[in-house]
Amino acid sequence: MKRTKWNDQDLVAQQETEVHRHKSFVDVQNTCPLCNSQLTIRIESYLENYTLREEATCPKCQVLARVKDHKMH
Ligand SMILES: [Zn+2]
Repeated sequence: MKRTKWNDQDLVAQQETEVHRHKSFVDVQNTCPLCNSQLTIRIESYLENYTLREEATCPKCQVLARVKDHKMH
């Protein structure tokens, strides 16, 4: 059963890489359209259906500026 554990770790590592890559990509365009301040990007991953959800919120206005779902296959 050791093999199964290794595979799980690989999967997690792979997903973390995806998240980081994605983060650096969205950093370019993540300013608030209302107050022009830096948005906070939150990435949530749902392992069960291979989806990444990206939420961009403005810490000043408290608005959810963008929600995106990404399927990863
Ligand atoms: Zn704002």
